[in-house]
Amino acid sequence: MAPPNRPAPRTLTVLAKRHVTPNMLRLTLGGDGMAGFPPGRQGGYVKLNLPQGAGKPAVRTYTIRAQRDGAAGGEIDLDFALHAETATGHAGPATEWAMTVEPGAEVLVGGPGPAKPLPAGHSFYLLAGDMTALPAISVNIEALPADARGLAVIEVMSLEDRQDIAGPEGFEVQWLVAEQPGLGAAEHLQAIRDAGWGAEDLYAWVAAEFSTMQALRSYLRDERGLGPDRLYISSYWKSGLNEEAHKLAKREDAEAQA
Ligand SMILES: Cc1cc2nc3c(=O)[nH]c(=O)nc-3n(C[C@H](O)[C@H](O)[C@H](O)COP(=O)(O)OP(=O)(O)OC[C@H]3O[C@@H](n4cnc5c(N)ncnc54)[C@H](O)[C@@H]3O)c2cc1C
Repeated sequence: MAPPNRPAPRTLTVLAKRHVTPNMLRLTLGGDGMAGFPPGRQGGYVKLNLPQGAGKPAVRTYTIRAQRDGAAGGEIDLDFALHAETATGHAGPATEWAMTVEPGAEVLVGGPGPAKPLPAGHSFYLLAGDMTALPAISVNIEALPADARGLAVIEVMSLEDRQDIAGPEGFEVQWLVAEQPGLGAAEHLQAIRDAGWGAEDLYAWVAAEFSTMQALRSYLRDERGLGPDRLYISSYWKSGLNEEAHKLAKREDAEAQA
């Protein structure tokens, strides 16, 4: 049974599947199970429950890249970074599922969890992340007011994985290419050091692989002194660990930081 306050997972239908870029696959989910899905959750996350034979289902977290209203409760888009096509070798259950599923299939979906929008009123926004964070970063940039200024540094697996993001005119996007995700911490940190932001009223939003998150955290929080009111930072996955093991590593890290 779902704990109190947490809605029971719903069964959604895969409505469509297409590549956004070579290493980013978009699935549209919808159907009758969307009845009662709360509106305005783009940028929030859902939990896919993927059956694993006789064992417990694998639970994997994905960002709602877009949400559209519709007669049957609407539909949501999820974007999957296809990490199996990298040198890390094997796909995890979510990536494998996304690559092989066909429209018409059903999937059990928990959530949605809340979005973490950028707080209004800062003079400069710095966003950083890899392809797993690209859906959330895109939602966040698209929601900024037309006069907002900022920079996003986004790591992608190839130049072809860059996407058009409809941001304000004063917002710059810098793309870093790291064929193998999870090894780009040094380049990411350098790009952010080089960005030249100064005494501005900065807000930083980071979601990345664990070691990149740690490198950026020690720079932004410890060197540049950004407190929690000006910094959101999270790891979305950890190289070499599946999501269950990453969750444990994340909890240990949070306890060590407390
Ligand atoms: C709040 C939140 C939102 C997220 N949103 C998205 C999203 O919108 N799109 C998205 O693609 N991911 C997103 N992620 C990350 C995603 O949940 C993880 O990448 C997850 O581990 C993928 O599950 P899997 O079953 O494919 O691989 P797992 O079974 O978890 O892992 C198998 C192996 O693949 C490696 N691995 C996992 N992810 C990657 C990766 N991205 N690149 C290279 N190797 C990897 C693992 O280290 C492990 O060795 C999000 C995570 C969080 C916490």
